[in-house]
Amino acid sequence: MKDETKSISVGRGDSQHYGSVNMPVYHTSTILFPRLQDLRNRASTPYRYGRSGTPTSTALEEAITALENAAGCVITPSGLSAVTIAILSVAKSGDHILVADSVYTPTRRFCDTTLRQMGVEAQYYDPLIGADIATHIRPNTSLIFTESPGSHTFEVQDIPALCAVAKQHNIKTAIDNTWGSCINFKPFAHGLDISATAATKYIVGHSDALLGVITANAETIEAVRDIHRQLGICAAPDDIYLALRGLRTLPTRLEKHETTALAIAQWLQGLSFVRRVLFPALPDAQGHDLWKRDFEGAAGLFSIELDPCTEAQLAAMLDDMAHFSMGYRWGGYESLIVPCAINRSINPDRFDTGGQYLR
Ligand SMILES: *Cc1c(COP(=O)(O)O)cnc(C)c1O
Repeated sequence: MKDETKSISVGRGDSQHYGSVNMPVYHTSTILFPRLQDLRNRASTPYRYGRSGTPTSTALEEAITALENAAGCVITPSGLSAVTIAILSVAKSGDHILVADSVYTPTRRFCDTTLRQMGVEAQYYDPLIGADIATHIRPNTSLIFTESPGSHTFEVQDIPALCAVAKQHNIKTAIDNTWGSCINFKPFAHGLDISATAATKYIVGHSDALLGVITANAETIEAVRDIHRQLGICAAPDDIYLALRGLRTLPTRLEKHETTALAIAQWLQGLSFVRRVLFPALPDAQGHDLWKRDFEGAAGLFSIELDPCTEAQLAAMLDDMAHFSMGYRWGGYESLIVPCAINRSINPDRFDTGGQYLR
């Protein structure tokens, strides 16, 4: 089945719901068992307690599993919790993990605080490192955590090369696949073990809910389910429903996001004060060849690097735009623009941010 077909047919369950086209929203904490024997046998029933799942959450899990060609899926209340649970499913006290220097800033904060307190050492690697990642591997390395393209700077990583090295050393690999959004990048076809996606972005797609999804391959999904269950992570049924609804138009919306972003990116390339447009779908952009090799398409999110300017000049550009507003998040139908500071420990001079590095 093609993604367009999957996205409109998987996770509907209409035959079990009186022919209703859409999966009903199950609001429940409690599943009732009529007899003692039923209660004792609850482990063999699909639904036992609201936190561990309802037909509504199963529908989204099945749809995401199908779109990413995964072995299974769990749902979390935000994209950030999807990332942290994915990391916690592998990293144990005493471990060393390798994390892309271009990860989403709150992911980095988690690695530098909570993970460190738990006795896990996160070391950042250059997202352009490729197979040379082998030089950073230690006997206690347990995970390579990637995000491609990276937040703000859009480095495309050579995921198959990283995964090949990881497999030689029996190390797990994970990706923050929010930009690939289940459609444009297929993590398991490229050798990854775990994929975390902020469904808040394109999957929900209408700026009205926060949600995350984690998928994994057959060897890894039980470890993800186990930590997810132990930490009591679950998402609200209405938000899951919004993600299911968004999913039905996801491939169609992504196509439009890509063509619109490409047109705007090309126009920006012609402006005198724009130094660089960081968008792998542009033929002359860094990472274009890897993007073309490994991705099915592009998201509508990209960065521009400006000539150095003052805060007043920046405000003159950003204030009161007619069609773009400032605000955090992306992947909705409305157009957004924000200034960003870059968080790099390796080769920070690749990007001139007028000295505005966060670290
Ligand atoms: C937005 C985002 C997240 C976090 O998602 P939330 O739902 O806001 O928690 C994680 N990773 C990337 C790359 C993101 O852009």
